[in-house]
Amino acid sequence: MAAPARRVALVTGGGRGIGREIALALARDGLDVAVGARTREQVEDVAAAARVLGGRALALELDVTDLEGIRRAVARTETALGPVDVLVNNAGIAEAAPFLKTDPDLWDRHLRVNATGPFLLTRAVLAGMLERRWGRVINIASLVGLYGAPYVTAYTASKHALVGLTRALALEVAARGVTVNAICPGYVATDLVWSAARNIEAKTGRSFDEAVASLARINPGGRLIEPAEVAAVALKLVWDDATNGEAIVLDGSAPA
Ligand code: NAP
Repeated sequence: MAAPARRVALVTGGGRGIGREIALALARDGLDVAVGARTREQVEDVAAAARVLGGRALALELDVTDLEGIRRAVARTETALGPVDVLVNNAGIAEAAPFLKTDPDLWDRHLRVNATGPFLLTRAVLAGMLERRWGRVINIASLVGLYGAPYVTAYTASKHALVGLTRALALEVAARGVTVNAICPGYVATDLVWSAARNIEAKTGRSFDEAVASLARINPGGRLIEPAEVAAVALKLVWDDATNGEAIVLDGSAPA
């Protein structure tokens, strides 16, 4: 009997932080993974680490705002690994600014990377998933996809858009073998938080450590979330047929 086909995942923003952790968790669990982001050395490094875990892996130089680049990345993944069964829309940016300093460029950048990027990626792989009657779209949103927060209007709006996409599409594909869910973490220990802390340090004169601690305290659980905790939820969603259209909150309330 032929061996069952291995599932293939495409993880955007997989070069570092949460995306890196998700790509490696999927590889550890037996999926083949394509890892896409703009920084070539980082995606190559993650693909190499995924291969060490025993699967096939592909590094993709990918900008999620570039439609042609997305088409090429999906085509390369299909040729090298097979059709995409699991799409993890993780690539994201977060820049804080008071509303009156949120210029149209900053606004557009957040919408294009955090909301339109996942829309374009999902459009590029969804038809195949529906045809094969199996697929997972996992969107890495944020707690601010569900609630408001000051000084991050553009980021908050982009993550609300991503949660809205998740909920609407989930209903459209329900009962056709494809699930669409969002994971909504609070502050996670990655570069994104270190750079937010440096920003606070520069603007308020507080120390870097104090700034990190102040962000950790905003999480309902009072601590930073580890990227591995986000990866564990993503992995559960891969093997769960029944969860669809959820925006799963990860707020650091579980013991570390
Ligand atoms: P990170 O360490 O800064 O990683 C972000 C990843 O996204 C990088 O691999 C980056 O790679 C990639 N990326 C950024 N712009 C891209 C673009 N235009 N095209 C392709 N890739 C792009 O941040 P992270 O904390 O792991 O964030 C991952 C996701 O989690 C984001 O969507 C973020 O909004 C979300 N999230 C983070 C937190 C947190 O506190 N850290 C909380 C809630 C949600 P390149 O720069 O090389 O392209």
